[in-house]
Amino acid sequence: MAWYCSGSTNSELIENLSKTGLIKNERVKKAMLGVDRAHYAPSRAYSDSPQPIGHGATISAPHMHGHACEYLINFLQPGSRVLDIGSGSGYLTHVLANLVIGPSSTSQCNCQVIAIDHIPELVELSQNNMRKSKQGREYLSHGRVKFITGDGRLGWKEGAPYDAIHVGAAAEQLHPILIEQLRAPGRMFIPVNAEGNETATGSLRLGGGQYIWIVDKKEDGSVHKEKVFQVSYVPLTDRPKK
Ligand code: SAH
Repeated sequence: MAWYCSGSTNSELIENLSKTGLIKNERVKKAMLGVDRAHYAPSRAYSDSPQPIGHGATISAPHMHGHACEYLINFLQPGSRVLDIGSGSGYLTHVLANLVIGPSSTSQCNCQVIAIDHIPELVELSQNNMRKSKQGREYLSHGRVKFITGDGRLGWKEGAPYDAIHVGAAAEQLHPILIEQLRAPGRMFIPVNAEGNETATGSLRLGGGQYIWIVDKKEDGSVHKEKVFQVSYVPLTDRPKK
């Protein structure tokens, strides 16, 4: 069904995702309407499919960006802090910023979206993509959005704790260090390359397909993990050797 949501304009694409129920929340819809995918996808920007962005990476399909926001929405309030790992094109980073930064990016809040990718060329690309809109330029100049080159498997301790963590590439385990960086309460959306055999340390063994896991850190610090649906993401890996 997702593939039938493509449009000839950004608003047509988002309206189609909304009509078919792939986007349910009005705040998610508004945040996605507020970012022109053509600033982030080099071709077929309004097609509901992943597109290559170079360096072996893809901009995920719009319905996957929608799902990620839907799952995280209660933790994406104006003022929230967010970590976007494997930020690639920077598209989702911008949508997440629209959800947490509110109308004035100069307002007094702790709100920030930290985006990490391990390929420096993609970090530069994502920043250039964000500079294509006035709002994107403001987010960057006010430090509300920060793009970082690094290994996302380590998270980014300096900005923790995060109300929401989004992982845009398939991990080999539910990295405990990322769970540590979640606020209590907080939620992580993470694709994991495994069947879901949990080890005593909370990591997952390699096995079958790739699934989205929702990891909730409750107010009392307890952690609840749920495997929600099967997906196909590029892997969260070591940085490719040149
Ligand atoms: N959300 C992005 C998805 C990009 S594809 C988008 O829709 O545009 C996944 C990204 O994860 C790639 O850009 C890849 O470079 C990055 N990645 C893979 N392993 C990583 C790691 N260990 N640390 C940080 N980024 C990683």
